[in-house]
Amino acid sequence: MIVEEIFNLVKYEIDDRAHIIVDTAKCANCDHKACVICCPAACYSWESGKLNFAYEACLECGTCEIVCDKKAIDWHYPRGGFGVCFRLT
Ligand code: SF4
Repeated sequence: MIVEEIFNLVKYEIDDRAHIIVDTAKCANCDHKACVICCPAACYSWESGKLNFAYEACLECGTCEIVCDKKAIDWHYPRGGFGVCFRLT
């Protein structure tokens, strides 16, 4: 299965409160931007010298927290009833 196919099997209940907070001040000196490369949902982008983050499409895989060696990511699961829902059919 390719990543794009995953989005056909998920739906979201989007919370107005972000479950991941990024301290973008710590990203300015990051030399690898691993979150941009590793996030399967493309929640991170680097534009004009600034990290942009949008939590709404997050698949809750936890990869970004693991790859960030600057400890810029405060990661939590969404509140109950919110976030991604994986469907098998
Ligand atoms: Fe992307 Fe996974 Fe981090 Fe969500 S938890 S922002 S899908 S890397």
